[in-house]
Amino acid sequence: MNYDVIIVGGGLGGLISSIQLAKKQYNVLVVEKYAYPFNKVCGEYVSNEVKPFLEDIGLDLTLLGATNINRFQLTSIKGKSLETTLQMGGFGLSRYTLDNELYKIAKSLGVTFLLNTFVDDIQKINETFFVETNASQTFETKVVIGSYGKRGKLDKSLFRQFPAQKQAFIGVKYHIKYDFPKDLIALHNFNGGYCGISAIEDDKYCLCYLSDRNNVKQSGGVHEMELDIMCQNPFLSDIFQNAEFLFDRPLVINEIIFTPKSAVHKNILMVGDTAGLITPLAGNGMSIAIRAGVIASKLIGDFLQKKINREELEGNYTEEWNKNFKNRLWRGRQLQKLFGDEFNSNLAISTLKKLPFLLKPIIKATHGKIME
Ligand SMILES: Cc1cc2nc3c(=O)[nH]c(=O)nc-3n(C[C@H](O)[C@H](O)[C@H](O)COP(=O)(O)OP(=O)(O)OC[C@H]3O[C@@H](n4cnc5c(N)ncnc54)[C@H](O)[C@@H]3O)c2cc1C
Repeated sequence: MNYDVIIVGGGLGGLISSIQLAKKQYNVLVVEKYAYPFNKVCGEYVSNEVKPFLEDIGLDLTLLGATNINRFQLTSIKGKSLETTLQMGGFGLSRYTLDNELYKIAKSLGVTFLLNTFVDDIQKINETFFVETNASQTFETKVVIGSYGKRGKLDKSLFRQFPAQKQAFIGVKYHIKYDFPKDLIALHNFNGGYCGISAIEDDKYCLCYLSDRNNVKQSGGVHEMELDIMCQNPFLSDIFQNAEFLFDRPLVINEIIFTPKSAVHKNILMVGDTAGLITPLAGNGMSIAIRAGVIASKLIGDFLQKKINREELEGNYTEEWNKNFKNRLWRGRQLQKLFGDEFNSNLAISTLKKLPFLLKPIIKATHGKIME
């Protein structure tokens, strides 16, 4: 079967790319490992950068029950706390709902989906890509978008290598019921990580954290780490003691690294986390994935209309990606160094308490402008 564009991975980057391309009448296939709706490890705080854009493509955020978040609290391991208003702010909506709604929009525009299927290899011969799935199907296309998330087996098949990282993290998410303001997002430090809490739809909260994987090894398991290490922060201790946990078990992802990656590899345009993962404390990985999907699909449209050749497509995409995101990702990595360490987190919060005007420019440094 032949497509104009095949998109590997139907997260935010992949879904937005598919919607933008389908609007231009291209024949698009999205291959996604799971079937919608499904839960995903993510803090579920969406920066308002992309709110007008999402509403414009047909998401009714009020109807979906998204919460408005405009205050931010930061706490140190010892429980020192700092609060500020958020200039741009954001909204809270579960990935279960958000991705599923975007999937429905994409389907209504004629995008073809292959669900519960993963791509295990991609070959390019002359001007045609051959995309192979675990079900031994092969699809042909002129353009491939890689939007398969942070890191996967496919990177190995594509011989995509990343520089070794000293520190790898795990990500854990729960949905909980808890007595907490709906307009506030809090980021609580603990040794080797930080944990966010913010409201989503249906009076629920998303509790999501990033932790050095050595914490789990040392403590002997995720639950043990939560009790031994995370609960040293009194704010986290209160959550773990008093919240109602709605999942049977935590949702966990492993081997998270923040190493720089390439925006194009083997002629495949990489979108979202596949091109580079911003540290979650910035709270805008989702808006970066959405923006990158829009940039990629615009350039792919130009390529399919023969306004630019493949070399220009790849060169322009890399240039746009670097211009829009490279510095934001770097700043996110630098900021993360202030987190997850007793000395640094106490110092950072004491300093910011004395010089509160510094907090807003720091938050701004990892965010972009409102997307038209
Ligand atoms: C702990 C944590 C907390 C975070 N909190 C926030 C937050 O609060 N706000 C925010 O904006 N960002 C947050 N982020 C970042 C955000 O989750 C990502 O940046 C965002 O999901 C990127 O979207 P994406 O489309 O690139 O990838 P994803 O949403 O991960 O989508 C990738 C998709 O590809 C599929 N897939 C993978 N491999 C294959 C394959 N071989 N074939 C087919 N399908 C495949 C997967 O099933 C998945 O659905 C957080 C990240 C972490 C780790």
